[in-house]
This record gives sequence, structure tokens and C-alpha cells, in this order.
Amino acid sequence: MKVKKIILNESEIPTRWYNIIADMPNKPLPPLHPGTLQPIGAESFSPLFPQALIEQEVSSQKWIDIPDEVREMYSIWRPTPLYRAYEMEKALGTPAKIFYKYEGVSPAGSHKPNTAVPQAFYNKKEGVKRITTETGAGQWGSALSFACNHFGIECEVYMVKVSFDHKPYRKVMMNLWGAKVFSSPSTHTEAGKKILASDPTTSGSLGIAISEAVERAAMRDDTKYALGSVLNHVLLHQTIIGLEAVQQMEKAGELPDIVIAPFGGGSNFSGISFPFLRMNFEQGLKIRCIASEPASCPKLTRGVFRYDFGDTVGMTPLLPMFTLGHTFVPAPIHAGGLRYHGAGAIVSQLLRDKLIEARAHNNVEVFEAGVLFAKTEGIIPAPEANHGIATVIQEAKKCKEEGVAKTILFNLCGHGHFDMKAYEDYFSGKIVKHELSDKEVANLIAKLETPEIPA
Ligand SMILES: *Cc1c(COP(=O)(O)O)cnc(C)c1O
Repeated sequence: MKVKKIILNESEIPTRWYNIIADMPNKPLPPLHPGTLQPIGAESFSPLFPQALIEQEVSSQKWIDIPDEVREMYSIWRPTPLYRAYEMEKALGTPAKIFYKYEGVSPAGSHKPNTAVPQAFYNKKEGVKRITTETGAGQWGSALSFACNHFGIECEVYMVKVSFDHKPYRKVMMNLWGAKVFSSPSTHTEAGKKILASDPTTSGSLGIAISEAVERAAMRDDTKYALGSVLNHVLLHQTIIGLEAVQQMEKAGELPDIVIAPFGGGSNFSGISFPFLRMNFEQGLKIRCIASEPASCPKLTRGVFRYDFGDTVGMTPLLPMFTLGHTFVPAPIHAGGLRYHGAGAIVSQLLRDKLIEARAHNNVEVFEAGVLFAKTEGIIPAPEANHGIATVIQEAKKCKEEGVAKTILFNLCGHGHFDMKAYEDYFSGKIVKHELSDKEVANLIAKLETPEIPA
């Protein structure tokens, strides 16, 4: 019998997260104050985040201990399984060996609880009573609701309108774990009212929802804000994925040549790839790490490396990032988790230094990839995950053409059980190729008012 699944036991759940900043040749640039354009200190984040997370955000310590309470919660679904995709390999007729790490086994159905749990834990420890956040497809909102429910913290979620309308059951899931959910833009915040006044029919965006959540958190002392991607501490928590995958690939007697993951703000990509990049840094290996993004929101492949705001209204500090501009509202594609204008500072620096790669796929291509995967491997992927699968298929086909048997590992970061509307639209031909034109990209970039970053 072929061994399809490589599992670890609970005692093998890593005890420390890996902080890639310690190994980066060029460290990420600091956040800037939007008024003075001077680097801002860690203390300016304290209205929004608990101290422990701010310390992790600016830490350059290579390994950071995972608290016991967090590991205990992790053990509900971790270690997650790693599979060999024999059936998809066969369907593609490729000599490549394809492996995937499956994060859809978490209670919320994606990798997001890996950071929601420690974020809720540190907030609880510092006496926080309520956490506000945004959510795109609802994955992050459900993960944070689950974590807040466990630690007894109130949770308030601003859900991007297009997803709120497309995915009503994600909202119910959040309600079940005790969270309050608002369609964003809402009339609950000044930011929301401002956006609605200028564009009453907007489909919403992650940037807008972040503005709303940040505004609410800044209003009250007992309320903090949580972000499900982009920031350094979020990427740090997600390295649990890759640290397990390194052990599992060793058990399988394999080392990946290529590591692939879908890319929204960079958390699941960082989670799986950083522990392999560590091998590149420490052992001089040349494992290629590829981030897969939608052609309708191509900040990595067609954006610019600039300081920009993390939200639409401009309430956050300026962050160094590959961006399409913070006012960009991506087309309402079904992969809601990838509809974000920018990329995290660490990933942006790695891309600029050519230590990682990026690739964009159109909407039709990604659903074709997801359907092939579901039919061969059985698991129905989240539409976001389909972007990674599209890259895997391209690389596997290249192996076939070139007659080389590479080992490919990808992150199946979530299941698509709440995404039947997306698959239904695909089957009824409603999913159309959507790609930004050169003119649209040029217009977006021309709108950026923030300073350029010299090479
Ligand atoms: C949130 C999410 C993403 C995108 O966010 P990243 O921070 O880039 O990982 C991708 N896939 C799924 C399933 C998600 O929930």
C-alpha cells in the first residue's frame, strides 16, 4: 500500500515559532508616521495591540516560545496531516512528486486559527475585554471568533460586503462562537459612513473593513484590534505550518525543490515557506518558494514596492509593501481572502531581494485547478487555495515537458465547504477571466501619494 498521509503525534507539535527576521540579509524597513514620515516606535501600536504582540512584531530573536496554553489549543487540530497527491500526479501524468500540507482540519477550516489562538491568548493575559477585526471571505472572522470564545473575549467582526452576501453561513458560524458581525462598509463607523457616502453600492474591500475595525478599537481602552495577516507577528505564528512540514517531509524521506502557497497578505505562504527558506539561509539550499495571487489583484507581480497604508481610509502607519495602492477595490472575485491591495513588509522585502517568487493566475484557471484537485484527491479546496494549486499544476506540467521529477510541496490552507456558491458559479459559466489592464495598473500606481523607496 502506498503511504498517502504522513502524520506526527501531539508531542511533535513544535514548541517554538521561527522568526525569519533573524536570518534575513536585509531586514524589513520600519513603519513610518504618515505625517512626519519618520520611523515610528513600537509604543505607537499600543492603542491597537497588546504588549506581548508588539514585542513579537519588532523582535529579531530567531526562536520564540509557544505558550503551553496555546500549544494545548493547537492540539485540537495540530499537527495537521501532510499528504502525497498520488492521484493528481497520475491525472497530470507528471513525474513530479506532489505533497500538500492540509490546514483545513482546524475548527474554522483554515490556517487562520494558528494565529487567532495566540492573539486571543495574549490579549486575555493583558486584560482586554473586546477585540475588533475585519474579515474577507469569513475565514479570519471565524477563526478569531473561535479563539475569543475560548478565552472569554467579546469579538466584533467587519465582514466585506461581497462575502457577507455570498457566504451567509460564515456569518452564522461566527455568531455561533459568540461574535457580532457587520456587513462592511457599515453605518456603525465614521469610516464606513464616509465610504458609503462616496460609493453607496461598493462591494467593500479588506482595506475598508480594516478602517472600520481600527476605528472601533481606537475608541475604547478595553478594546484592541486583531489582524489576520500581513503583520510580522501573524507570519511568525503561522510558521508552525512549515515547522511541522519540515519534520513530515523528513519522515517521507524527501526535500521539496519548490514550495507553493496562495497569497493574500502573506500569512499562509510565510507559514509554510519560512522554515524552508531557513534551510536556504543556513545550509545554502536553493528551495524555490512561489506565492500565487489572483490576476485581478496582482500586487506582487505588477504592483510597486512603496510605503503605503494598510487600510483604505489611511488610519494605519505607512508600511513598506508591494502594493496596488490602498484605495484599490479589487473585483469581487470569490477568493475573498486574496482581495487585499498590499503584501506584508517581510514578504515584500524577500520578494524585492529575489529570495522568493510570485505568480498570478486568472479566475477560470484557478477553478479548473480546484476542480481537478477535488476530483483526484477528494478534498474540496477553498477558492484561495486553488491559486496555489494552479501554480502546482504549471510546475508539474513543466516537469513533464522537461522529464524531470521535482518534489513540490504546497499549502492547502483551507477547505471550501462554505464556498459552494463559488463552485456553482463556476459550473454555470458565471466565472469569467478577470485581469487588470496595464492602463488600470498604471492609473492605480499614479494615484499613490506616498514616498518611493530608493533601491
Ligand atoms: C485568509 C486566507 C488566505 C489569504 O491570506 P494569507 O494571509 O495570505 O494566508 C488564503 N487562503 C485562505 C483559506 C484564507 O483563509
